[in-house]
Amino acid sequence: SGKFFVGGNWKCIFMEDGDHTGSILFSDFTLHLKQYTQNGTKESISKLVSDLNSATLESDVDVVVSPPFIYIDQVKNLLTDRIDIAAQNCWIGKGGAFTGEISVEQLKDIGCKWVVLGHSERRHVIGEDDQFIGKKAAYALSQDAVSSWDNIVIAYEPVWAIGTGKVASPEQAQEVHAAVRDWLSKNVSAEVATKTRIIYGGSVNGGNSADLAKKEDIDGFLVGGASLKGPEFATIINSVT
Ligand code: 13P
Repeated sequence: SGKFFVGGNWKCIFMEDGDHTGSILFSDFTLHLKQYTQNGTKESISKLVSDLNSATLESDVDVVVSPPFIYIDQVKNLLTDRIDIAAQNCWIGKGGAFTGEISVEQLKDIGCKWVVLGHSERRHVIGEDDQFIGKKAAYALSQDAVSSWDNIVIAYEPVWAIGTGKVASPEQAQEVHAAVRDWLSKNVSAEVATKTRIIYGGSVNGGNSADLAKKEDIDGFLVGGASLKGPEFATIINSVT
C-alpha cells in the first residue's frame, strides 16, 4: 500500500569490495567487524553516488539514502534529484546548546527531507528508548507542513536479520507487516493503515528482494550493506512489483 519505498542506510561502516553478507555484531557495546573493514570516505561516497546517478531506476518508487551526517552535503551536491536524502538521527527538539547534536532545522537547511529514527542500533548500542524516540519523531514531524502520517514510513527490522546474512522469509515478514498494519487500523484509522508504507529491513539483497516485494504488506525495504553497492541497490529498487 502506498508508493513503494526503498531506503539505503549508509551506516558508518563501509565494506570493501567482496561479499556483502558479512556481519556486524553487537555485544556489550563492542563492535566486532567482519568483512566491513573500510570506513566511509569522501572517495567511496563519490563512487557510490556516481554509480547511483548512472543507474536506471523504476519510476514508481520513492528512493532515499541516509549518509553519515558529515557526508550529507557532499551527497546533496552530487546525487541526482531522483533520490532524496535522509539523516540517520536528529536532536529531540529545537536546536540549542547541545554539543555534538544536529537539529531538525539544520537538516532542513541542507536539504534533508527525511530522518531515520528508532533504528535498533540506536536503541541497543546507544540506549535510546521509546519515549526518547517518540519525542524526536514528534518534533521532526512538527517541522513539516504536510499531515503527519503521510510522512511516516515504518520499518520492520528483526534484529537477528540485521547484518547477518539471514533474511526473514517473505512469509515471516508478511506476518509481522500485516500485524503492524492491523495495529494501525485499530489504533489510528483504516485510512492510515492502508496508506502507510511498511518496509522490511535485515539482510535484503539483490537476490532476495523480488520474492519479499511480492508480499501484500511489504511496501519496500530499508537496506544496509547491499545499499553500498550501486548496481545491487538499483536491483533492489527495481524489484517493485
Ligand atoms: P543490513 O541490510 O546490512 O542487514 O542492515 C539492515 C539495516 O539495519 C538497515 O537499516
